[in-house]
Amino acid sequence: MERTGTTSVVVFTRDLRMRDHPALVAAAQADHVVPLFVFDDTVLAAHGSANRTAVLLDCLADLRDQLQRTGAGLVVRRGRWADEVLEVVRTTGATQVHLSADVSGLAQRRDASLEKELRAHGAELLRHQGITVVPPGATAPGSGGDWKVFTPFYRRWIEHPWRPVLGTPSDLALPDGLDPGALPPLGDLVEGAPSPGLARGGESAALDRLRTWAADHLHEYEDRHDDLAGDATSRIAADLHFGSLSPLEVAARLRDRPGGGPFVRQLCWRDFYHQALAGRPDTAHQDYRSRNDHWREDPEDLAAWQDGRTGFPIVDAGMRQLAVEGFMHNRARMVVASFLTKDLYLDWRAGAAHFMSLLADGDLANNQLNWQWTAGTGTDSNPNRIFNPTVQSTRFDPTGDYIRRYVPELADVPAPEIHEPSPATRSRVGYPPPMVDHREAIEAYRAQLAAQRA
Ligand code: FAD
Repeated sequence: MERTGTTSVVVFTRDLRMRDHPALVAAAQADHVVPLFVFDDTVLAAHGSANRTAVLLDCLADLRDQLQRTGAGLVVRRGRWADEVLEVVRTTGATQVHLSADVSGLAQRRDASLEKELRAHGAELLRHQGITVVPPGATAPGSGGDWKVFTPFYRRWIEHPWRPVLGTPSDLALPDGLDPGALPPLGDLVEGAPSPGLARGGESAALDRLRTWAADHLHEYEDRHDDLAGDATSRIAADLHFGSLSPLEVAARLRDRPGGGPFVRQLCWRDFYHQALAGRPDTAHQDYRSRNDHWREDPEDLAAWQDGRTGFPIVDAGMRQLAVEGFMHNRARMVVASFLTKDLYLDWRAGAAHFMSLLADGDLANNQLNWQWTAGTGTDSNPNRIFNPTVQSTRFDPTGDYIRRYVPELADVPAPEIHEPSPATRSRVGYPPPMVDHREAIEAYRAQLAAQRA
């Protein structure tokens, strides 16, 4: 296509890649392109965590290196997001700003306000796909609105035509004289250190991770995705959150390979929660379907759960994996979330906030709505979704190797005892007693639900 002679800005947000990037491809039609990233002080203050900010910096460094190879580079700014974008537009005389449409309330408000300010300057904002496989709202239930149950959504989603995977621009030119700015060090952006076992971010690392995993494990995904010790899932959630992988490209390339069907179904869960949050941005903080819960408040119980000192080995293993790696296996996420909201009857928001403070893949749509799914206040709601930690442990970590990996006190305790160590073993190895009796805790939870319904 012929270049238009204009200057365009492409504002990267959480689409930090070169491949299959509709906004970048559209911006690349101009003579000059400004690939821009703005460190938004509001977002850093609200959602900044050492783990996610470290991964973000990996992503940006990789993107900057790739953009430099095209002849452009990455322009970096910090401040109030819309002001910084506007300033770049003014300095360069750009007439178009391209970005990937996002779903959170904050992103929707932010983009709308930028659009207004740009219009006042005679420039336009163009929103593109790129954050999900199928754009939120592209399919709708017969009754209208957003989808509230996964299975019918999936049936429509898998049949919906997907846009083609796009090529990567290879020849970009910055306008003359624009100061590119520099990536700040981690310590200038957030307090605290990242988890010691945090995986590296960025498009190059993400592609390596995906290719290696798909070659070794995609074919067995359905059979092994719940195997806690086997750790056989893709671990690309953070790559998808930051957009260093295109969800559409991943889905399109893997769908027809052996094992691809069940894997792509998991990517559909991601799209499902994104469309749910787009339709109900309030559910980042409010119940999707309120049950009128009167959650307990107990800072000591919450701290025991956060620290992995509940006395339930599988719960403690999950919580400690989170602290050490900034990641937790999906099966463990369900178990620990059920434990917090059912056994301890503590508010899902407290659990979600702790996850967000540590997960490299912490994602408003996926995190808050998975928490609500587990708590029983969300989509696909079912108050009886209760996970018995000991049964889950025996079933999904039969050898106890997952527990041993993260709870070193129990390293020499054999299975099956490791799932529920005796009082004598606990006192010998210095492992705490269970903080609740699961059966009694669940009876109390059910009584609470019955009282709420009455
Ligand atoms: P794989 O099993 O390899 O799956 C591939 C991809 O599919 C994932 O990377 C993810 O993008 C998507 N996916 C898989 N399961 C789900 C699911 N249940 N919901 C939505 N997408 C899914 N996922 C996040 O990306 N960010 C979060 O903040 C997050 N918080 C969660 C909190 C709780 C309480 C629970 C129960 C789940 C949460 N999940 C979250 C979903 C899921 O646990 C992770 O996506 C998954 O464990 C990431 O590991 P993986 O990349 O190896 O997954």
